[in-house]
Amino acid sequence: MKLKKHLGGIKPYNPGRPIEEVQNMYGLNDVVKLASNENPYGCSQNVQKAIITELNKLSLYPDSRADKLREKLANHIGLNHDQFIFGNGTDELIRMICRAYLGQGTNTVMTDLTFSQYKRNAMIEGAEIREVPHVNGRHDIKGIIDAVDQNTTVVWICNPNNPTGEYVREGELITLLGSLNKDILVVCDEAYYEYVDADDFPDTVSLMKQYPNLMVTRTFSKAYGLAALRIGYGICQKNVVNDLEVVRETFNTSRLAQVAAIAALEDQIFIKECSKRNREELEQFYSFCWRFGLSYFPSQANFIWIDLKRNTNDLVNRLLLKGFIIRPGSQFGCQTSMRITIGSSTQNDDLIAYLSQLLQLPEIVEK
Ligand code: PMP
Repeated sequence: MKLKKHLGGIKPYNPGRPIEEVQNMYGLNDVVKLASNENPYGCSQNVQKAIITELNKLSLYPDSRADKLREKLANHIGLNHDQFIFGNGTDELIRMICRAYLGQGTNTVMTDLTFSQYKRNAMIEGAEIREVPHVNGRHDIKGIIDAVDQNTTVVWICNPNNPTGEYVREGELITLLGSLNKDILVVCDEAYYEYVDADDFPDTVSLMKQYPNLMVTRTFSKAYGLAALRIGYGICQKNVVNDLEVVRETFNTSRLAQVAAIAALEDQIFIKECSKRNREELEQFYSFCWRFGLSYFPSQANFIWIDLKRNTNDLVNRLLLKGFIIRPGSQFGCQTSMRITIGSSTQNDDLIAYLSQLLQLPEIVEK
């Protein structure tokens, strides 16, 4: 086939392995997936009830504008209902942003160690990618400002950053926004927002009033536990919503996803509890790292990035044989690191116990 030339070198996105695949491949019953930053506690109990009441409407298309959910979110966040746009997961919002604002002759700026979908979608649109080296897992704001020029249309800030868990402070974001022309869209991807507890994390919704070129994306896939249903949202000024509406698929979020998201939003106690447990469990991983002298970045999210100081591909394979699915750093270009999703207490205890055993094997010793 005559594939578009610029698509030739682009690799498909590499998601974490599904539990079912690992069960079948290795004949394992108990498989723990700590590779895609899903919520180990599931989702609010309200969700099942909401989905069941919607089941007799499966023959009807969903509300294209997701008006009920829009209303709910507008009240929850304290913004006007026309400042929202919904996506089939934030993945789709990222694609829509690239489709609307990037193409040949434009460039886009991001950190080199970050969520790979920004780069992949920008490449699909034929834009130039400018990757600024991270500094200790953090976005280098000055480097990002320096990389921007008159052809830059979108700047990506993954906050907290996947895979490092580090975050851009409010002062840093204000410096960035204050330095850029108002026609450059700054996208703050806050997929892990509900897990954040740092006092100096940016209040992006307030900043949006002063900086109309700021856009925030959030998802129901992580703390809300609805990854299977594929629904996320963008918050931005109305003119940006209008631009993105042009490239949005008409029925991009399903009926079930919309009612589930409303029910999930109504249960903020569940979200607070998950976030609290996540912080407690993160401490177990910090202690594990101290015990083995491993370096890690303090995380504001539900995952941790650890440098194990040895090639982690072998470790990840051994963990897989035991039923633990983990992301090797090699997928992010870092051979000696791995990203572990924070699981439930039992999952974490089991993983840490087995990883501790592996790290003491003579053939696994530091290289
Ligand atoms: N942004 C970041 C930073 C992510 O880590 C992810 C999921 N891995 C997404 C966006 C996409 O999430 P979803 O499409 O499920 O909303």
